[in-house]
Amino acid sequence: MVSFTCNICGAANDVEHFASEPATCACGSNVRLRALIYLLSVELFGRSLPLPAFPRMKAIRGLGMSDKDCYNALLAEKFDYTNTFYDREPRLDFTQPHPELAGHFDFILSADVLEHIAPPVEHALAEAHRMLKPHGFLGVTVYCHPSGILREHYPTLHEFRIVPLGGRDVLINRRPDGTLEIRDDLVFHGGTGATLEMREYGAAPLRAQLLDAGFREVDFLTTDIPEIGVLFDHDTSQPLIARNREYTFDHCAGHQLVDAWQSAELRAREAAECADLLATRIRLAASSRWLRLGRSLGIGPRFE
Ligand SMILES: [Zn+2]
Repeated sequence: MVSFTCNICGAANDVEHFASEPATCACGSNVRLRALIYLLSVELFGRSLPLPAFPRMKAIRGLGMSDKDCYNALLAEKFDYTNTFYDREPRLDFTQPHPELAGHFDFILSADVLEHIAPPVEHALAEAHRMLKPHGFLGVTVYCHPSGILREHYPTLHEFRIVPLGGRDVLINRRPDGTLEIRDDLVFHGGTGATLEMREYGAAPLRAQLLDAGFREVDFLTTDIPEIGVLFDHDTSQPLIARNREYTFDHCAGHQLVDAWQSAELRAREAAECADLLATRIRLAASSRWLRLGRSLGIGPRFE
């Protein structure tokens, strides 16, 4: 039995059969998602905070690639954050250039998406890198095979369609040289269409691709954090952060943090003054002759 507090919703859980992939909290979080939010917290704030306790800082700009329901609404509450999708609105195709978004984001999250991006995935990684501020970072979860080998299933994918044929889907591809390829060994992750597995990663080739995309550091989370339900089990898919340099708050976020701290101080002072005033009133009231009389008769307010 593993007892942990989910760092996405704050719920306390006791889980008997603990595996990395299936949801192990009622909010829908699994090991990889809790690890991703842990990495986000440590990267932004230097400590592990549960998502509901993140400070509200709208100066921090974040972007999600098909982020999951269990955390995207909270991220939108805390930050200037937009979740995007490949196949529905708000739509964003990372394989295409978006010069208007260059240097725009503090963080981009990609949870179990990189294996589904049509080749060459390198374009999407380079685009994500371009969209980040110089101190911004990319948080990734993706399944990595223990063999450590990258298997690109459709290396010559060019113009393609997935069509149903005789009760199962087939992929028809016109390669760049004009020849046709038909494949029926398709693997989907819980759906059809965009959930087609395009590749299977190994950890070392993934790191190499991120470095090639322009990131200077790639840090995999390799240690278990049992108190928040991050136990990697047999899963070799340790989440990672790819960054250029250590995260720092820019000017605007720094000011917002000072404002938040000042108003928290003010609230604390007001609360303390309020408590003092109340204590004085209670002392005065408790010593009142009329109240003493009331108490002896079993009526009136009680302060003890
Ligand atoms: Zn939860």
